[in-house]
Amino acid sequence: MKICSAPWFNLTIHSSGKAVMCCIDYKLEYIVGDTNEQTLEEILYGEILERVRQQHLSGSLNFSPCNKCINKHYYMDRDEILDRWNKSNEIYKRKI
Ligand code: SF4
Repeated sequence: MKICSAPWFNLTIHSSGKAVMCCIDYKLEYIVGDTNEQTLEEILYGEILERVRQQHLSGSLNFSPCNKCINKHYYMDRDEILDRWNKSNEIYKRKI
């Protein structure tokens, strides 16, 4: 099953410093963090992006901008996303 991988492997920073899941959200409809107040690590591993990842995994994309998104550019196999995410977390944990 393919789902959007953007909440795992993509982060877009607006010129204001606000972070969103992807460039589709240029209107800042779903802010996942703020680089004026948080590090990238805090945003990437924070509660908001984790919640969004769970929503993507469960298929309950009943929020904007994902509920109206037609972009398939980031679509990947669900198991491959989780496999890559787990591997990148292992590498990240070894570095800190
Ligand atoms: S579904 Fe669309 S709007 Fe939502 S994160 Fe993926 S690319 Fe972005």
